Amino acid sequence: MNVASEKKKLVIAIDGPAGAGKSTIASRLANRFGYVNLESGAMYRALGLKAMETGTPLDDGERLRGLAGNSSIDLKPTPKGNRVLLDGRDVSERIRERDVTDAASRVSVHPGVREWMVARQREMGAQGGVVMEGRDIGTVVFPNAEVKIFLDADPSIRATRRVVQHNATDDPEKAKKLVADLQERDRRDSTREVAPLVAAADAVRIDSTRMTIEEVIARAEEIVEEKIAQTLHAK
Ligand code: C5P
Repeated sequence: MNVASEKKKLVIAIDGPAGAGKSTIASRLANRFGYVNLESGAMYRALGLKAMETGTPLDDGERLRGLAGNSSIDLKPTPKGNRVLLDGRDVSERIRERDVTDAASRVSVHPGVREWMVARQREMGAQGGVVMEGRDIGTVVFPNAEVKIFLDADPSIRATRRVVQHNATDDPEKAKKLVADLQERDRRDSTREVAPLVAAADAVRIDSTRMTIEEVIARAEEIVEEKIAQTLHAK
Protein backbone atom coordinates (compact mmCIF):
# COMPACT_ATOMS: atom_id res chain seq x y z
CA MET A 1 0.00 0.00 0.00
CA ASN A 2 1.64 3.27 -0.98
CA VAL A 3 1.17 6.64 0.63
CA ALA A 4 -0.68 8.12 -2.35
CA SER A 5 -3.35 5.43 -2.31
CA GLU A 6 -3.62 5.64 1.45
CA LYS A 7 -4.47 9.31 1.09
CA LYS A 8 -7.06 8.93 -1.66
CA LYS A 9 -10.05 10.85 -0.46
CA LEU A 10 -13.42 9.75 -1.63
CA VAL A 11 -16.67 11.50 -2.39
CA ILE A 12 -19.45 10.20 -0.19
CA ALA A 13 -22.95 11.04 -1.43
CA ILE A 14 -25.88 10.79 0.96
CA ASP A 15 -29.34 11.30 -0.48
CA GLY A 16 -32.83 10.77 0.77
CA PRO A 17 -36.03 12.52 1.79
CA ALA A 18 -36.37 15.06 4.60
CA GLY A 19 -36.23 13.62 8.09
CA ALA A 20 -34.45 10.40 7.16
CA GLY A 21 -31.42 11.34 9.28
CA LYS A 22 -29.03 12.42 6.52
CA SER A 23 -27.49 15.34 8.42
CA THR A 24 -26.66 13.28 11.49
CA ILE A 25 -25.15 10.48 9.43
CA ALA A 26 -23.24 12.87 7.17
CA SER A 27 -21.67 14.76 10.05
CA ARG A 28 -20.73 11.57 11.90
CA LEU A 29 -19.15 10.06 8.80
CA ALA A 30 -17.24 13.28 8.14
CA ASN A 31 -15.84 13.24 11.70
CA ARG A 32 -15.01 9.58 11.57
CA PHE A 33 -13.07 9.77 8.27
CA GLY A 34 -11.72 13.31 8.58
CA TYR A 35 -13.80 14.53 5.65
CA VAL A 36 -15.60 17.81 5.09
CA ASN A 37 -19.35 17.70 5.51
CA LEU A 38 -21.24 19.76 2.95
CA GLU A 39 -24.99 20.14 3.25
CA SER A 40 -26.35 21.01 -0.17
CA GLY A 41 -29.85 21.76 1.14
CA ALA A 42 -28.44 24.73 3.04
CA MET A 43 -27.53 26.33 -0.29
CA TYR A 44 -31.12 26.05 -1.57
CA ARG A 45 -32.26 27.47 1.74
CA ALA A 46 -29.90 30.44 1.43
CA LEU A 47 -31.21 31.20 -2.05
CA GLY A 48 -34.80 30.84 -0.80
CA LEU A 49 -34.02 33.39 1.90
CA LYS A 50 -32.47 35.81 -0.57
CA ALA A 51 -35.51 35.49 -2.83
CA MET A 52 -37.77 36.34 0.09
CA GLU A 53 -35.66 39.30 1.12
CA THR A 54 -35.45 40.72 -2.39
CA GLY A 55 -39.09 40.08 -3.24
CA THR A 56 -38.16 37.71 -6.07
CA PRO A 57 -41.18 35.54 -6.93
CA LEU A 58 -40.53 31.92 -6.01
CA ASP A 59 -42.11 30.70 -9.24
CA ASP A 60 -39.94 32.84 -11.54
CA GLY A 61 -37.13 30.44 -12.50
CA GLU A 62 -35.35 32.91 -14.74
CA ARG A 63 -35.13 35.65 -12.14
CA LEU A 64 -34.12 33.15 -9.47
CA ARG A 65 -31.31 31.90 -11.68
CA GLY A 66 -30.16 35.51 -12.12
CA LEU A 67 -30.40 36.04 -8.38
CA ALA A 68 -28.25 32.97 -7.73
CA GLY A 69 -25.65 34.22 -10.21
CA ASN A 70 -25.39 37.49 -8.28
CA SER A 71 -25.06 35.80 -4.92
CA SER A 72 -22.31 34.21 -2.95
CA ILE A 73 -23.45 31.21 -0.98
CA ASP A 74 -20.75 29.54 1.05
CA LEU A 75 -20.72 26.59 3.40
CA LYS A 76 -18.14 26.92 6.12
CA PRO A 77 -17.64 23.59 7.83
CA THR A 78 -16.95 23.86 11.55
CA PRO A 79 -16.74 21.14 14.20
CA LYS A 80 -20.30 22.08 15.18
CA GLY A 81 -21.67 21.78 11.65
CA ASN A 82 -21.83 23.99 8.61
CA ARG A 83 -22.14 27.75 8.93
CA VAL A 84 -23.97 29.15 5.97
CA LEU A 85 -22.90 32.49 4.53
CA LEU A 86 -25.14 34.41 2.16
CA ASP A 87 -23.24 37.30 0.60
CA GLY A 88 -20.89 37.11 3.57
CA ARG A 89 -23.69 37.21 6.18
CA ASP A 90 -24.12 34.29 8.55
CA VAL A 91 -27.68 33.01 7.99
CA SER A 92 -27.19 29.58 9.56
CA GLU A 93 -30.04 29.88 12.05
CA ARG A 94 -32.45 31.93 9.95
CA ILE A 95 -32.50 29.40 7.10
CA ARG A 96 -33.90 26.67 9.39
CA GLU A 97 -37.14 28.54 9.93
CA ARG A 98 -40.38 27.38 8.41
CA ASP A 99 -40.84 30.15 5.83
CA VAL A 100 -37.31 29.65 4.46
CA THR A 101 -37.75 25.87 4.43
CA ASP A 102 -40.78 26.31 2.22
CA ALA A 103 -39.02 28.83 -0.02
CA ALA A 104 -36.03 26.46 -0.45
CA SER A 105 -38.33 23.70 -1.59
CA ARG A 106 -39.95 26.04 -4.13
CA VAL A 107 -36.77 27.51 -5.59
CA SER A 108 -35.26 24.04 -5.98
CA VAL A 109 -37.72 22.97 -8.70
CA HIS A 110 -36.27 25.40 -11.28
CA PRO A 111 -33.76 23.89 -13.73
CA GLY A 112 -31.63 27.06 -13.95
CA VAL A 113 -31.33 27.25 -10.18
CA ARG A 114 -30.32 23.60 -10.00
CA GLU A 115 -27.73 24.06 -12.73
CA TRP A 116 -26.08 26.87 -10.76
CA MET A 117 -26.19 24.87 -7.51
CA VAL A 118 -24.77 21.73 -9.11
CA ALA A 119 -21.85 23.67 -10.62
CA ARG A 120 -21.00 25.19 -7.23
CA GLN A 121 -21.35 21.85 -5.46
CA ARG A 122 -19.05 20.14 -7.95
CA GLU A 123 -16.40 22.80 -7.34
CA MET A 124 -16.68 22.28 -3.61
CA GLY A 125 -16.27 18.53 -3.86
CA ALA A 126 -13.74 18.42 -6.68
CA GLN A 127 -10.82 17.46 -4.44
CA GLY A 128 -12.69 14.60 -2.75
CA GLY A 129 -12.66 14.11 0.99
CA VAL A 130 -16.25 15.28 1.25
CA VAL A 131 -19.50 13.93 2.55
CA MET A 132 -22.19 15.75 0.61
CA GLU A 133 -25.82 15.28 1.48
CA GLY A 134 -28.92 16.23 -0.44
CA ARG A 135 -31.42 14.85 -2.93
CA ASP A 136 -29.45 14.55 -6.17
CA ILE A 137 -25.84 14.12 -5.08
CA GLY A 138 -25.41 10.51 -6.20
CA THR A 139 -27.56 10.92 -9.32
CA VAL A 140 -26.55 14.34 -10.69
CA VAL A 141 -23.89 16.22 -8.73
CA PHE A 142 -21.44 13.33 -8.33
CA PRO A 143 -22.67 10.39 -10.43
CA ASN A 144 -19.18 8.88 -10.03
CA ALA A 145 -19.05 9.24 -6.25
CA GLU A 146 -17.21 6.28 -4.75
CA VAL A 147 -19.81 5.88 -2.01
CA LYS A 148 -23.53 6.45 -2.47
CA ILE A 149 -25.98 5.94 0.34
CA PHE A 150 -29.71 6.42 -0.02
CA LEU A 151 -31.17 6.89 3.41
CA ASP A 152 -34.88 6.40 3.77
CA ALA A 153 -37.50 5.80 6.45
CA ASP A 154 -41.28 5.44 6.56
CA PRO A 155 -43.04 8.79 6.18
CA SER A 156 -44.70 8.46 9.60
CA ILE A 157 -41.33 7.93 11.31
CA ARG A 158 -39.78 10.83 9.48
CA ALA A 159 -42.71 13.00 10.51
CA THR A 160 -42.37 11.96 14.16
CA ARG A 161 -38.65 12.68 14.15
CA ARG A 162 -39.28 16.12 12.69
CA VAL A 163 -41.86 16.91 15.36
CA VAL A 164 -39.46 15.88 18.13
CA GLN A 165 -36.60 17.82 16.54
CA HIS A 166 -38.72 20.99 16.55
CA ASN A 167 -39.92 20.47 20.14
CA ALA A 168 -43.53 20.22 18.97
CA THR A 169 -44.61 17.02 20.72
CA ASP A 170 -46.85 18.99 23.09
CA ASP A 171 -48.09 21.38 20.45
CA PRO A 172 -50.54 19.54 18.16
CA GLU A 173 -51.11 22.57 15.92
CA LYS A 174 -47.41 23.08 15.29
CA ALA A 175 -46.91 19.33 14.85
CA LYS A 176 -49.68 19.20 12.27
CA LYS A 177 -48.10 22.00 10.28
CA LEU A 178 -44.66 20.39 10.42
CA VAL A 179 -46.05 17.11 9.10
CA ALA A 180 -48.00 18.84 6.33
CA ASP A 181 -44.86 20.79 5.32
CA LEU A 182 -42.81 17.61 5.21
CA GLN A 183 -45.36 15.86 3.00
CA GLU A 184 -45.53 18.82 0.65
CA ARG A 185 -41.74 19.03 0.37
CA ASP A 186 -41.57 15.28 -0.31
CA ARG A 187 -44.17 15.65 -3.01
CA ARG A 188 -42.35 18.54 -4.68
CA ASP A 189 -38.96 16.79 -4.47
CA SER A 190 -40.28 13.56 -5.96
CA THR A 191 -42.37 15.05 -8.74
CA ARG A 192 -40.19 17.86 -10.10
CA GLU A 193 -39.06 17.44 -13.69
CA VAL A 194 -35.36 18.03 -13.14
CA ALA A 195 -33.39 15.82 -10.76
CA PRO A 196 -36.34 14.39 -8.83
CA LEU A 197 -35.55 12.55 -5.64
CA VAL A 198 -34.64 8.99 -6.63
CA ALA A 199 -31.99 6.59 -5.43
CA ALA A 200 -29.06 6.18 -7.81
CA ALA A 201 -29.05 2.68 -9.31
CA ASP A 202 -25.73 1.96 -7.58
CA ALA A 203 -26.61 3.47 -4.21
CA VAL A 204 -26.71 1.34 -1.08
CA ARG A 205 -30.11 1.79 0.53
CA ILE A 206 -30.49 2.05 4.26
CA ASP A 207 -34.02 2.02 5.61
CA SER A 208 -33.74 3.55 9.06
CA THR A 209 -37.38 2.99 10.04
CA ARG A 210 -36.59 0.35 12.63
CA MET A 211 -33.00 1.26 13.33
CA THR A 212 -31.45 3.40 16.04
CA ILE A 213 -29.25 6.21 14.94
CA GLU A 214 -26.20 4.34 16.21
CA GLU A 215 -27.15 1.32 14.10
CA VAL A 216 -27.51 3.49 11.02
CA ILE A 217 -24.14 5.11 11.69
CA ALA A 218 -22.48 1.72 12.16
CA ARG A 219 -23.94 0.48 8.86
CA ALA A 220 -22.90 3.64 7.01
CA GLU A 221 -19.36 3.40 8.41
CA GLU A 222 -19.18 -0.20 7.30
CA ILE A 223 -20.18 0.79 3.75
CA VAL A 224 -17.51 3.50 3.62
CA GLU A 225 -14.83 1.25 5.10
CA GLU A 226 -15.57 -1.46 2.55
CA LYS A 227 -15.26 1.08 -0.23
CA ILE A 228 -11.98 2.45 1.10
CA ALA A 229 -10.61 -1.09 1.32
CA GLN A 230 -11.71 -1.81 -2.27
CA THR A 231 -10.16 1.44 -3.48
CA LEU A 232 -6.85 0.58 -1.86
CA HIS A 233 -7.01 -2.93 -3.26
CA ALA A 234 -7.67 -1.67 -6.77
CA LYS A 235 -4.45 0.39 -6.76
O1 C5P B 1 -32.00 19.13 2.95
P1 C5P B 1 -32.89 20.30 3.26
O2 C5P B 1 -34.21 19.88 3.81
O3 C5P B 1 -32.22 21.34 4.09
O4 C5P B 1 -33.16 20.96 1.83
C1 C5P B 1 -34.03 22.06 1.68
C2 C5P B 1 -34.74 21.90 0.34
O5 C5P B 1 -33.80 22.02 -0.72
C3 C5P B 1 -35.41 20.54 0.15
O6 C5P B 1 -36.76 20.59 0.53
C4 C5P B 1 -35.24 20.22 -1.31
O7 C5P B 1 -36.37 20.61 -2.03
C5 C5P B 1 -34.08 21.10 -1.76
N1 C5P B 1 -32.88 20.33 -2.08
C6 C5P B 1 -32.73 19.87 -3.36
N2 C5P B 1 -31.58 19.23 -3.73
C7 C5P B 1 -30.60 19.03 -2.85
C8 C5P B 1 -30.75 19.47 -1.51
C9 C5P B 1 -31.92 20.11 -1.16
O8 C5P B 1 -33.62 20.03 -4.18
N3 C5P B 1 -29.48 18.41 -3.24
